[in-house]
Amino acid sequence: MRDYTEVYDADLSNVSLTGTNDVRRIQIVHVPDDRHERDIVDNEALAAGEAHEVLVREPVEIVDHSPKSAVSVLEGPYGRENALSQASALARDEDLPIAEEIVTLRPHHWSDAGHWATCPACSSEELVLVSDLDDTNLTLACRACDERAQAETDRTEMHSEWFHCPGCGSGDVNVELSGPAGSTWWSCDDCGYDTVPAPPDRAYAEARDTSLPA
Ligand SMILES: [Zn+2]
Ligand SMILES: [Zn+2]
Repeated sequence: MRDYTEVYDADLSNVSLTGTNDVRRIQIVHVPDDRHERDIVDNEALAAGEAHEVLVREPVEIVDHSPKSAVSVLEGPYGRENALSQASALARDEDLPIAEEIVTLRPHHWSDAGHWATCPACSSEELVLVSDLDDTNLTLACRACDERAQAETDRTEMHSEWFHCPGCGSGDVNVELSGPAGSTWWSCDDCGYDTVPAPPDRAYAEARDTSLPA
């Protein structure tokens, strides 16, 4: 049995840890990329990408042929330290173990263009990626006003007008489509921030969709 201080670098006394999904448990989730939360929460730790949430997960069960562990409580966002103390308080109150690992998750739809670009003409974030048939370049089109980023214009100019890295705000953003299924990969040249996929977690995504304001 691993020690709490070893796992969490924090003193979670009188709390037990679990490594299995088969029991009701508390889980701490690190959500480094939630721009929605960053915008509304006035807290430096959160703004720096240190948002954590505290969840109560129900024992895993098979739903539609895939494992699902329902979320019955979703609290936060907190900074890391606060998340740890909230989790341990909840663990004592509810007499539940805490999951051994802090999972890092990306928000649902995180690779949507809207997180990384905004239409310079109408400020809409409803953008689509359009590939140029003559070229391998991707360009952006606005669903709301039909504005298109002109591939032939100066690339630097297009970058500063359309793009904004959610990590650092830089316009030095790259976008490419990977594979035939067309999942989108965004990355920032300035800070190295990118959209590496997180493990899918359907129950968590559903819980967030219902707990966050639209
Ligand atoms: Zn527009
Ligand atoms: Zn950046």
